[in-house]
Amino acid sequence: MNKKKTSQGIAHLLSLIVLSVLILSGASAATAAIKHAPAGTTAYTGRAGDEHAVPNGGGQDNLPVIRPDGYHELLKLPLPPAEAPVITRIPTSKPVVFLAIDDGLIKDKAGRKFIADRRWPVTLFLTDEIIAGDYGYFREMQLKGAVIEDHTITHTNLTTLPFEGQKKEICATADSYQKKFGVRPRLMRPPGGDYNQDTKKAAAACGMHAVVNWHSKVNGGSLQYQEGDKLLPGDIVLMHFRKEFMDDLKAFQQQVKRDHMHVALLEDWIDFETASVALNSGQN
Ligand SMILES: [Zn+2]
Repeated sequence: MNKKKTSQGIAHLLSLIVLSVLILSGASAATAAIKHAPAGTTAYTGRAGDEHAVPNGGGQDNLPVIRPDGYHELLKLPLPPAEAPVITRIPTSKPVVFLAIDDGLIKDKAGRKFIADRRWPVTLFLTDEIIAGDYGYFREMQLKGAVIEDHTITHTNLTTLPFEGQKKEICATADSYQKKFGVRPRLMRPPGGDYNQDTKKAAAACGMHAVVNWHSKVNGGSLQYQEGDKLLPGDIVLMHFRKEFMDDLKAFQQQVKRDHMHVALLEDWIDFETASVALNSGQN
């Protein structure tokens, strides 16, 4: 009897060990999966302390890009993200703002050069149907450090779609950009900033870590703020690829200087690894 009990105990212990190893290897696979910057590009992986992430520096007047001092400064996303959280800014007192440019309608080469010359690391929320004719314009920006993120296939107001429809818009864009740009988006912005609870669930189901809206925006050559009259530390700033692109970029630069800010990369300031591991272990 005792012998049988002991061997049952050992079998139970062994199965626990096997299970632990499986869970751990799953977790490390998830960790490995998000370190996905393609070789030969300067795409940012968003990890503090990754010395490969900022090859040229950047920011106001070519000053070095300000990056977090360490893990403690990263935005920790809630776990597990069954719903992607909505963010409009990064909670920090450092003088950093994040420029996120949307859609991709007007492909202004002078504007692209303006950004590259200043080595601003920017986040691009691109709509697949809008950029489909000219991925090359954005690949060039990606090579200079821009990160391509998800802004749906058709730019439909997501709140008019059921969960499955929203999921299709978000997932298909992520799949497309993974092929076209070699990196899968990790953030999404809903068209027009319109979202509901299904949007947050659909974003998470497509592997997005956050729904990103904005705290300030540049429009028609001037800045508009959700509160106050200046850029605040951690602000996510909305801009568009429009015909006034150069005017918007110059207005933004002026305001950045006036408020003694630096342009930093949003993805540098988010803790993706923890969220990603949790996301994977939370799925079937
Ligand atoms: Zn848009």
